Amino acid sequence: MMRVDAFLTNCRLADGRLVDIGIAGGKIAAVGEGAASLSNTAPALDMRGDLVLPGLVDGHMHLDKTLTGLPWMGHAAGPTRMSRIETDKTILPHLPLSTEERAGNLIRECLARGTTHLRTHVDIDLESGLAKLDGVLAARERYRERVTMQIVAFPQSGVMRCPGVLDLLDAAVRNGADLVGGIDPLEIDRDPKGQLDGIFGVAARRGVGLDIHLHEPGEMGFFNVQEICARTKALGLGGKVTISHGFCLGGITERKAAEAAETMAEAGVALVTHGAGGLPMPPIEILRAAGVLVFAGNDDIRDTWSPYGTGDLLERAAIIGWKGDFRRDGQVETAFDLISAAGAQALGIRGYGITVGAAANLFSIAASCVAEAVAAHPPRKLVLFDGKIVARDGAFISTPIMVAGAAAT
Ligand SMILES: [Zn+2]
Repeated sequence: MMRVDAFLTNCRLADGRLVDIGIAGGKIAAVGEGAASLSNTAPALDMRGDLVLPGLVDGHMHLDKTLTGLPWMGHAAGPTRMSRIETDKTILPHLPLSTEERAGNLIRECLARGTTHLRTHVDIDLESGLAKLDGVLAARERYRERVTMQIVAFPQSGVMRCPGVLDLLDAAVRNGADLVGGIDPLEIDRDPKGQLDGIFGVAARRGVGLDIHLHEPGEMGFFNVQEICARTKALGLGGKVTISHGFCLGGITERKAAEAAETMAEAGVALVTHGAGGLPMPPIEILRAAGVLVFAGNDDIRDTWSPYGTGDLLERAAIIGWKGDFRRDGQVETAFDLISAAGAQALGIRGYGITVGAAANLFSIAASCVAEAVAAHPPRKLVLFDGKIVARDGAFISTPIMVAGAAAT
């Protein structure tokens, strides 16, 4: 057995086993029943039978829009998507906290609830240029020892209707964005070929993936799903393209949804959902059965688009399960997969899970099994990133604590 810095003992795993987890150099070095008894020197922190699960993956966020940390502000936008897009431009530049500060506030809330990996979209438009990207990049740097973050350059106001945005997306990727975004090529731009050719062109040129917001309903959205899959195949980008929301998949006939699922699976196009209120949810089980990688995220969390949310991904999984009528434990475990292993696969996180060799990114919770953790989502007790305690009893810790140090006190 290799040298171990510290043990977490009496950890309940998702498969029901009660094990000790050895941590060395920020990685998981041992997982086994009674593993700690093989070492008489490493300090041990007793988890008292709490469930220990891998750090959660939020696959769809908007860190630049959040109002977290500010006094309560009532929702100011009108009922349409275009009204929310325009309201962002009047509110966000005048807030008393910067993008970096607000993003940091939300990151801390998410960490306290067990999220250790996230993908955020960041608005790129003619009015703000790359300013919001700069703020989120600064937050990523500030919290790089506590969370991993992917950034999508998101042309929220459109691409073809805003000449110059394609160049900004290209600049955003050169400056640190990891993926190129898109939005409703028909409804926002009224030019699906123009937008999709444009954003796929930037992604192919820069060697990055894409994550495209597709709110468009019914046949309109279905058409764009097919167009996105066709370009993904033609450019060899399978496994690097995500459709965000894809509400249309829940609003077309079952036969067409099955056809779309087959097309997406064949092209290697993933879907991220958040179980939006008031809108149809894609048929998660049909998509997964067809081989589509489906994952989940919180989307808007107390921001200019929605007053709701705390950053709790277990609560999000419960919302998705409730909306999808997932009742049996196996189905609730599917909802958990969307915010854990499936999300990790979509974000390309290597060595994910409670397994030897993986980074020690995990959290503990007073629940007997995964289904109970999702359904009841009590506060997270401990959250570890790279083997250090970054949150405890539902609260962020400003200076990470070594497990050995926590065990000694
Ligand atoms: Zn979004």
